[in-house]
Amino acid sequence: MTQTKRRRSAPTNGVILYEGPSAIDGKPIVAIATCLVHPSKNDKTGPMAQLIIMRSDMHPVDAINTGDDESICGSCRARKTNDNWCYVLVGKPISQVYRAYKDGKYPKGTTDDIIKSRWSFRHGTYGNPSAIPFELNKEIFAALESSRKSWTAYEHEWRTCDQGLAEFSMASCESIEDAQEAISMGWRPYLSCLPEEVELAKELGLLRCPYRLHDASTPQCSDCNMCSGNTSKVSAGIVAPVHGANYKVRNYVEMRERASLRVIQ
Ligand code: SF4
Repeated sequence: MTQTKRRRSAPTNGVILYEGPSAIDGKPIVAIATCLVHPSKNDKTGPMAQLIIMRSDMHPVDAINTGDDESICGSCRARKTNDNWCYVLVGKPISQVYRAYKDGKYPKGTTDDIIKSRWSFRHGTYGNPSAIPFELNKEIFAALESSRKSWTAYEHEWRTCDQGLAEFSMASCESIEDAQEAISMGWRPYLSCLPEEVELAKELGLLRCPYRLHDASTPQCSDCNMCSGNTSKVSAGIVAPVHGANYKVRNYVEMRERASLRVIQ
């Protein structure tokens, strides 16, 4: 872990929290806390600071195309070289952060920088929390808790990662069976499923994510606070219909059919 403190006259919008080997495959990665001053404009999440984890030695789009994104995404089925339905928009926003990183625009930082930000925190906007050392994850979440700051976190490698992450992070699940397995392992699932499966998931005890596109009366992640693992006051898992670009939703449906997982008609 290469964390160093540096004096800065004015708050910076992004800092490097980690540069070093991936906890997944040992390849070089970087974790950058961004939007610390100017929050993200994502309609669903609302204004949040965020953590972006990516390969430090290659452009994120190249990593996606070659499968080298395994260092930060693990074996996630949504990767392009697997079933290609990940909804993260890597093209522009993540590429911009990578370019700024390569241009030396981000100083080294610490979890203090997250605490000083006025915004709640989205861990792993891109990349799995488990890609960075577990000790750093513990530091990040301890800092968020001690400053009473809310966060969201989602982990795709929940079966194999340090199980201590279940305390702070949701288990990203792609089928009802996945969600049931995650629950049996002590995780709260965040289930992305087919729209017609939402009711069944609710019958099994999951809560529907309250956010609705274009409905300002529904909460955004920044004020909902239900996707913070087992620290949340809500013990039920969350379900939401798969979303994103049309071709990605199509790829998700095809993945489900290929995997012969249950599709409710
Ligand atoms: S349940 Fe709340 S925190 Fe989780 S995705 Fe939905 S709005 Fe965001």
